[in-house]
Amino acid sequence: MNSPIRSIRGMNDILPEDIHYWHRLETTAEQIFAAYGFEQIRIPLLEKTDVFTRAIGSATDVVSKEMYSFDDRNRESLSLRPEGTAGVVRAALQNGLLYGQVKRLWYSGAMFRYERPQKGRSRQFHQIGAELFGVSGPDADAEILALGSGLWNRLGLTNLRLELNSLGNADERSLYRDQLYSFLNAHKNELDDQTNERAERNPLRVLDSKDPKVIALLEDAPLLMDHLGEASCNHYEQLKRYLDGLGIEFHENPRLVRGLDYYCHTVFEWTTDELGAQGTVCAGGRYDKLIELQGGKPWSGIGFAMGEERLVELLRQKDDVVPPVMHAYLVAVGENSTETALKLAYDLRAGIPALRLIVNLNKGSFKAQFKRADRSGALLALVLGEDEIRDGQLTVKFLRSGDEQLKLDFNQVGDWIRKYIDSI
Ligand code: ATP
Ligand code: MG
Repeated sequence: MNSPIRSIRGMNDILPEDIHYWHRLETTAEQIFAAYGFEQIRIPLLEKTDVFTRAIGSATDVVSKEMYSFDDRNRESLSLRPEGTAGVVRAALQNGLLYGQVKRLWYSGAMFRYERPQKGRSRQFHQIGAELFGVSGPDADAEILALGSGLWNRLGLTNLRLELNSLGNADERSLYRDQLYSFLNAHKNELDDQTNERAERNPLRVLDSKDPKVIALLEDAPLLMDHLGEASCNHYEQLKRYLDGLGIEFHENPRLVRGLDYYCHTVFEWTTDELGAQGTVCAGGRYDKLIELQGGKPWSGIGFAMGEERLVELLRQKDDVVPPVMHAYLVAVGENSTETALKLAYDLRAGIPALRLIVNLNKGSFKAQFKRADRSGALLALVLGEDEIRDGQLTVKFLRSGDEQLKLDFNQVGDWIRKYIDSI
């Protein structure tokens, strides 16, 4: 006999016992996007590799180490999407969704990165993201942050901390990058190999280090904030005023950089310390240069992506998401009872769309069927025995309360159940 095949490392199944947390997150997100006028877009999982190398930058971890890339049968290099923004921009350009208008889009789905799997970090993971195109001013930044904050409120996630920084424009950043590089280079001997390698490839990434020694050294490093020109400063100051006006608390973190190269001006992260080391649940920023990198005319964009696994874990820890209750289990015993049960259940579900009803399958004694009814969590057992079928009636038993059982004629059942569902 063959041994069973297991899933790929870092690619996890999401089991029925957890699915209600996912539904809670996804339906709440869908509602808030609608409330903010964002339209959903669905893009392919697979894109030409260039979509990501151009957008994300080949010096980033994502592109240089984490992409699932392969040549297809036509020898074209394709990659599983490691993130959503690059593909959304590709799609928006290709379908003429960008210019001359403000466009609000959101997406969700699986992303793939070849990382070291650990708690809060997997190789297939899921993101929900928002992108707002066509506004260069900080009102868009504030609106995007308001959306995020509104979502946490609706989900009851009150312990998230918003960190904020400005990366300035490309010129300011490149000037700063040189200075930071000189600083790091001067301290080369105090830094480990990995940090030195980062400093060579992408010095800003060093600011992101979690190593206490590096963090201590960075205390004396030049700050990007001190290299911003007037326009960049104004953008940032105005955003902070908008956030104050909205009552959204934020913490300025001058060392906050994002792993992807395309960001400019505003960058932000929402973090929690309730998840251990992988505490960032949502991250994003402004990417005004990305659209040009993807071959479009210059156009503004700002967005974020949240990690669904990490948010689901927070919802699980809070443990106040109740799975939807099973209303009824239809027990049927005796000759012809299966036909009657299948038809009755079919009609009831058609007549009462909100009804959750399991019909007994695989026959069995009353005792066996009641056991299954109990295990299903159903509130009611609807019982069809020989007497009931003969009399055109159904017995309703209350499985979770002491209420007296009752008998209903078949033609009364629908109305009774509808009222019962409304009453719970
Ligand atoms: P990190 O520094 O933790 O690797 P990142 O900068 O690579 O994060 P982004 O590309 O900004 O992350 O992705 C946005 C969010 O998606 C993250 O804040 C996180 O919640 C989630 N995320 C990213 N990579 C993973 C992963 N491998 N597994 C689970 N969630 C992830
Ligand atoms: Mg990463």
